Amino acid sequence: MSISVLKVISGAYLRSGTHVIKRRRTTFHPMNAYPEVYNIDNSFATASADPGHPVYKERTVRQGGKELRIWDPFRSKLCGAMKKGLKEFPFSPGSKILYLGASTGTTISHLSDILGPEGEIFAVEIAPQCMKTLIALSERRQNIIPIHADARQPQEYEDVGQVDSIYQDVAQPDQDDILIKNARMFLKKGGIAMLCIKSQSIDVTKRPEEVFKAVVKRLEENFDILEKIKLEPFDKDHLFVVMRWRG
Ligand code: SAM
Repeated sequence: MSISVLKVISGAYLRSGTHVIKRRRTTFHPMNAYPEVYNIDNSFATASADPGHPVYKERTVRQGGKELRIWDPFRSKLCGAMKKGLKEFPFSPGSKILYLGASTGTTISHLSDILGPEGEIFAVEIAPQCMKTLIALSERRQNIIPIHADARQPQEYEDVGQVDSIYQDVAQPDQDDILIKNARMFLKKGGIAMLCIKSQSIDVTKRPEEVFKAVVKRLEENFDILEKIKLEPFDKDHLFVVMRWRG
């Protein structure tokens, strides 16, 4: 991590959370399509990089010498998209991700499990309260680098350098511009971007379909669209778009 990324990190140490570890007899196996992701009773799970410390009071299951954290599709849009059949999954041990709209790190914590010690998640978040929790999480998980910044100003965290993928969930009216700006600065040619479009954040007067169509059209100027997944029943009026950066 570079000095200037460290400079934009702010906030106080805060830790919270209780955990429940249940012993079960169910079998578990890694999902082929999703590296380091397990399937337990039709739920996705990741092996905790920080056993004994659940992140969002998620259910945990101890099996095969691992503590598996059940991934909640109602709390994580990435998991919702996986439940709806997401095909492209650019995350594996050692990947480098720029994550815009980190919040308190719910989805990031599962990515942290997947990426392992060689991976890096540059987690950009604008809200100071969320940052406190995110910083606490990053102190327990070395592959999360919290960045307190506005994703509209990528020059503030330019030292992040080139990344393999960008994941964006900022729920802002200009979310397409934010993604394109960040991709220009950080995403490797051919890299994958994932965008969660919330139609209500863009225009409440238009039908979600109309809003989605306009955003996708704008994205197509720079990306090849690979997948479009509606997130119901996990999130209403959300479209999850997966695309490849033409560079
Ligand atoms: N992706 C998170 C997860 O799955 O755990 C949830 C993200 S939440 C829907 C959206 C987050 O984006 C909020 O925490 C909000 O503060 C943040 N956000 C909104 N505008 C932003 C901006 N311009 N720059 C950085 N973060 C922003």
